Amino acid sequence: MTILKTMNLKKIYTNGATSVHALNNVNLSVERGEFVAVVGTSGSGKSTLLHMLGGLDRPTSGTVTVDGKDIFSLKEEALTIFRRRKVGFVFQSFNLVPILNVYENIVLPIQLDGNKPDKSYVNQIIQTLGLDDKLQRLPSQLSGGQQQRVAIARALATKPIIVLADEPTGNLDSKTSQDVIGLLKVTGEKFSQTIVLITHNEEHAQLADRIIRIEDGKILGGDRV
Ligand code: ADP
Ligand code: ADP
Repeated sequence: MTILKTMNLKKIYTNGATSVHALNNVNLSVERGEFVAVVGTSGSGKSTLLHMLGGLDRPTSGTVTVDGKDIFSLKEEALTIFRRRKVGFVFQSFNLVPILNVYENIVLPIQLDGNKPDKSYVNQIIQTLGLDDKLQRLPSQLSGGQQQRVAIARALATKPIIVLADEPTGNLDSKTSQDVIGLLKVTGEKFSQTIVLITHNEEHAQLADRIIRIEDGKILGGDRV
């Protein structure tokens, strides 16, 4: 079942007299539970694509459909709510709250939505990511890899429709990076979570179910790994 689909997605950035065609008629679809890597060099349009998929920025034209809903038909407020409840973001910067411990950071988005965490589900995520013995620590007492695992747990804990990870290991050394992407894959599989990973790292991309290549704002191919 298709959970995420773009149709003729275009994004043109205009600065005065110059304009950049960052995305040029991007058509792609992602199946429920699939782990897809979007690979391309710097400036190819990866971040722009991720921002469109997550409703962070509106396209110039074209549509993004998530779980059957055309997200850009939503007004700004509804789009913000969609993003908060239905999309899990993982960025290069971990964006953890420094005064909250690991557990509090993980359940914070759930609580901000006025909900109570599903403790059993959250605990399974914590275990899968190997964070059981770190729950009382503050982010400053963790390594970079551990902090990113907390950010992944936080992204999955809300049971989002899609998880979008934008170069999540950009601040980590290569061994830690490979481990973190491996754990992202394992956790996604275990919880049937649909994941789109943006990366320029070929080794990380090889861990995905499918690689989508992007160049100059165009999709080159969606070869099965
Ligand atoms: P990637 O993530 O693959 O490095 P980006 O999506 O960041 O690529 O950028 C795609 C193209 O769009 C690049 O040419 C970049 O310079 C341009 N671009 C990205 N964001 C903006 C912006 N806010 N204003 C103008 N140009 C932008
Ligand atoms: P990176 O660590 O890859 O540089 P950032 O964490 O700085 O990524 O975020 C990338 C962009 O997305 C920034 O412009 C940031 O302001 C924006 N952003 C991140 N999270 C949200 C959100 N929940 N709502 C709106 N914009 C967001």
